[in-house]
Amino acid sequence: MNQDCIFCKIVAGEIPSAKVYEDEHVCAFLDISQTTKGHTLIIPKQHTRNVYDLKEDVAEKLFARVPKVANAIKDAFQPVGMNILNNNEEAAGQTVFHLHIHLIPRYGKADGFG
Ligand code: 5GP
Ligand code: ZN
Repeated sequence: MNQDCIFCKIVAGEIPSAKVYEDEHVCAFLDISQTTKGHTLIIPKQHTRNVYDLKEDVAEKLFARVPKVANAIKDAFQPVGMNILNNNEEAAGQTVFHLHIHLIPRYGKADGFG
């Protein structure tokens, strides 16, 4: 655990979050700032700055869980589509330096981006 990392604190339960999914290796929770309803972040429990530090075995566990989390969001929120993306380093929009994948449900014209 990185003591200065808010996502490590979420994993440890020191900061509250709305968990969507959790197992031994990964944790998924609602983004505090919902780009659209159900906007979720999935992270490895092991602190990893971003893709450049991502170990292959951690990547396997993380990416293997994406369909399960995407389907949980789909079932809960009934979006008509979903964007899945990841930002690496400040220049690419990374603001929290614990690797995370955004799952952003899309609702067509109803979400203001359609
Ligand atoms: P980035 O810009 O690094 O790709 O995304 C970081 C995301 O983390 C942002 O969408 C931001 O809203 C979210 N975030 C930042 N702090 C917290 C927090 O304490 N709790 C939760 N659930 N999300 C957070
Ligand atoms: Zn961390």
